[in-house]
Amino acid sequence: MPISCRRRETALCHSVMNTEHEDNIWRERRSVLGSAARGFRNRCPNCGKGKLLPVYLRPHDICSFCREPNGRIMAHDAPPYITILIVGHIIAPLMLFWENNSTPPFWAHYAAWMTAALVLTLLLLPRVKGAWIGLMWALRLNGNEVQ
Ligand SMILES: [Zn+2]
Repeated sequence: MPISCRRRETALCHSVMNTEHEDNIWRERRSVLGSAARGFRNRCPNCGKGKLLPVYLRPHDICSFCREPNGRIMAHDAPPYITILIVGHIIAPLMLFWENNSTPPFWAHYAAWMTAALVLTLLLLPRVKGAWIGLMWALRLNGNEVQ
């Protein structure tokens, strides 16, 4: 509380207090890697205790533990894009390695790599989305920013 507000609280005084409170919120440092790691583990980027994605890809509107409004953060297309990038960089070298070393039939390639790509994608997508939401939280972004 500012010194001038100790005797008598006025509307102007509350306005100053709210501005100072907002300034303090913006000055609070947030760890980008720590927040992304919490999101990757499906935990709230703020407290690390509440569950971030209770259903497969749908975040809680408000963290059940610390009341952080994580549901306002919109990840848009970034998590699927990053997931495809990661899965492609895992599957493609393995496919080429298998083809060069044993020359399996086409159906074996199709069955193995389609299954592997599908399973990897389904496993990675919620983790990548959680990490992305954690990253956005640490950078104070919500997905509605205008450039
Ligand atoms: Zn929380």
